[in-house]
Amino acid sequence: MTDERSKPETKPSAAAAGAAGVDLDEEDEGPDVLQIAPERQFPEEESRKGFWGKLKRGLLMTHTEIIDKVNAAMEGRATLDEETLEFLEEALIGADLGVETSLELVDGLRRDVRPQQAVDVFKLRERLVDEMAILLLDAPQPPRQPASGPRVTLVVGVNGVGKTTSVAKLARRSQLDGERVLIAAADTFRAAAIEQLELWGRRLGVDVVRTAPGGDPAAVVFDALQAARARRVDHVLVDTAGRLHTKDHLMQELSKIGRVIEREAPGWQRSTLLVLDATTGQNAISQARTFSAVVPVDGVLLAKLDGTAKGGMAVAVARELRLPVLWLGVGEQAEDLVEFRPREFAAALLG
Ligand code: GDP
Repeated sequence: MTDERSKPETKPSAAAAGAAGVDLDEEDEGPDVLQIAPERQFPEEESRKGFWGKLKRGLLMTHTEIIDKVNAAMEGRATLDEETLEFLEEALIGADLGVETSLELVDGLRRDVRPQQAVDVFKLRERLVDEMAILLLDAPQPPRQPASGPRVTLVVGVNGVGKTTSVAKLARRSQLDGERVLIAAADTFRAAAIEQLELWGRRLGVDVVRTAPGGDPAAVVFDALQAARARRVDHVLVDTAGRLHTKDHLMQELSKIGRVIEREAPGWQRSTLLVLDATTGQNAISQARTFSAVVPVDGVLLAKLDGTAKGGMAVAVARELRLPVLWLGVGEQAEDLVEFRPREFAAALLG
């Protein structure tokens, strides 16, 4: 680690966003930047297996690519002139942050820059982290969960995005939080997906309610809720809707499941989580548009972040689709899931 560790933690503020005119000179003390010293902030999570280790691992490819591009944009340039800012803009757009967000980030720098201002690339990165954290904190945040009471989470997403694995990860997370969990295998279209869930269920010690392939998804949810009530389960995870052939079909399937939940589990908290595959970039964005046009999506789980340099997509989902990003999938194991925390995400991406 660098001496970042010994720096005091400072919070991003509106002032830091640039209104106060921030210097980027090397000699300057610099702006009130976000100086996350992760291992200090999360002492309980220092290990590779902890939050910070997993987040950094998940964002490694994206981080490397962005930083290479930022460094290349700055190479041989002593000042932050307009041409350099444009290079920087391109570098950020290329990392799938979304055009709008990339322009906003660079505009933040442009506002503060003085003619012929000397710049230090590390300070510039700190400043970008700060700007990005502010933009992400301004994006929709997840709805607050009441502290107690049973809940049911509908997990939607097209086949292959990592939905089954994500259901298993969420089940694991609930278990670790001390909840009793049950999985409903209501994506009945693929026999392999049902078997996969059963396998995860056995590994994790979680009951999986299923039917024969091709069965009625709403009937699976009905059975699962009956079982959940009898077994005093806290969290039912419903693996559902893996096809996007026709929106009508999707809508019918989900609204039938919705009616079953209303009848069988009135008063339970209900949310719909959309799983997207981070490796598919714009394709994932258009899937998100389609799903959210059919069903109110409460949040997104961005899977396979570890396998792509397109991790900036999380920012595009939050800022351009205005959907809260709740979770990041960072590997194939049940524990490879981290919650999306805007400041830490910005620091891991650009810091
Ligand atoms: P589904 O068809 O949407 O249910 O997708 P699966 O859950 O079967 O996942 C498809 C493939 O992606 C499998 O090989 C998973 O192990 C893999 N996968 C899922 N999530 C992640 C992730 O976060 N990171 C990585 N590297 N692989 C993942």
